[in-house]
Amino acid sequence: MRVAVGGIFHESNTFFTRPTTFEEFTRRNTTRGPAILQRWQGTVSEIGGYIEEAHRQKVFLVPTLMVHGMPSGPISDIAFEQLVGELLERIAGVRGLEAVLLSFHGAMVTETLQDADGEVLRRVRDLVGPEVPIAATLDFHANTSPLMVAQADILVGGDTNPHLDYRERGRECVALLARGLRGEIAPRMALAKAPLMPNILRQRTAEGPMAALMERAHAAEAEPGMLAVSVAAGFAYADVECAGLSCVAMADGDLDRARAVADAIADRAWELRESFDAHPPRAKEAVALAIASGSGPIVLVDVGDNVGGGTPGDGTTLLSELLEQDARGALVVIADPGAVARAVAAGVRNDISLDVGGKTDEHHGPPVRVHGRVRLISDGMYTNRGPLRHGIAEDMGRTVVLHSRGLTIVLTEYKTPMWDLQQLRSLGIEPALQRIIAVKAAIAYRAAYEPIAAQLIEVDTPGLTAADVRRYSYRNVPRPIWPLDR
Ligand SMILES: [Zn+2]
Repeated sequence: MRVAVGGIFHESNTFFTRPTTFEEFTRRNTTRGPAILQRWQGTVSEIGGYIEEAHRQKVFLVPTLMVHGMPSGPISDIAFEQLVGELLERIAGVRGLEAVLLSFHGAMVTETLQDADGEVLRRVRDLVGPEVPIAATLDFHANTSPLMVAQADILVGGDTNPHLDYRERGRECVALLARGLRGEIAPRMALAKAPLMPNILRQRTAEGPMAALMERAHAAEAEPGMLAVSVAAGFAYADVECAGLSCVAMADGDLDRARAVADAIADRAWELRESFDAHPPRAKEAVALAIASGSGPIVLVDVGDNVGGGTPGDGTTLLSELLEQDARGALVVIADPGAVARAVAAGVRNDISLDVGGKTDEHHGPPVRVHGRVRLISDGMYTNRGPLRHGIAEDMGRTVVLHSRGLTIVLTEYKTPMWDLQQLRSLGIEPALQRIIAVKAAIAYRAAYEPIAAQLIEVDTPGLTAADVRRYSYRNVPRPIWPLDR
């Protein structure tokens, strides 16, 4: 079985008005041909899972193009066309092609396309024709669309948040594809959407309404004749027609059955809507709480500048408040290439005054003037050692550790989600010994920080991923939708 493997993976925040360029999109984790297998083999990722299961199922993977970009603004049309063109060209070049296996996020938007994942699938379908199966994995935050379901034969979405099961879902997708190719099963998929955008802070699959939905999905999946059931929370920071929570159910040769299961789970999500709400404290109150708390680390969650949700990562709301309230022993990480350049020019052991953060847009607080000492300059490279995306190399760009008035300020050239303790340890900083750590995140950070934190305080900070989506003016999401319309 010769299967082309590739993908274009991006979570696009449409409130970020600056389009993501080709250079930004492809800077990290873009691989072509055999390098894809070398790069991802053995990692905790869907692609690591594909490789593992393909070996087991005697599927021969032909690697094409794999782009795994950092979440950010919509992809520029030029970058999208160039990458899709290359992907199609490489798939077209695979001799004896029997199937296509693709990695998507499911919330990719371009300057002109609201459902870019669906569009890639449509073009791949046009290329390979109706007889060649197309299988794909999606993120738990996919805004799954009817177009995606129509163009693909197999879609498998993540079941966990934080996303700890990427490898398992990758394996599951390949196992289903291989069984289909052997004629053992005939996957039939149905999509149901609920008019619901759950609060980002209520999307943990370990507790609350999402845990209830996942339990329901797993029970349905275990029924005879069912092949897979995926629930996706959706990505509310993409203002698109296919926004909202969704369920994709896959039954063996029985579309009506798939439809009934998907509908039942979407209906249940709708019934649970009020429990998908959250009301975290504002920065002033949250920082005071952290200072008043006993031993650390107290993790302050900067929800509005959640790097994993596509924000700039240069928000200063918590930094200003920590300085204002004279917090001691607190650590913040801010992406600011200009500040890094100035600190590098100043050199280690030297004092410097500079404006930090708040430079990308006006949504994440103004730049903050700090006076501090350059303690360390690093190349910013490290490899994840925790449970999330274990084994994958990360690149923060040149990175500076600055000490200022009892605060540790980590300045990076590239924004980087805080989902692994190795990020700070690579800079000689032991996270467990910090009194207060501000993380620009919503849920994913928990995989690394929950085990070491004395307390987690979610903070209602402003920004492009604010906890309350009623802050934004939406133009494209289907109305009515909860919580925009009660
Ligand atoms: Zn996600």
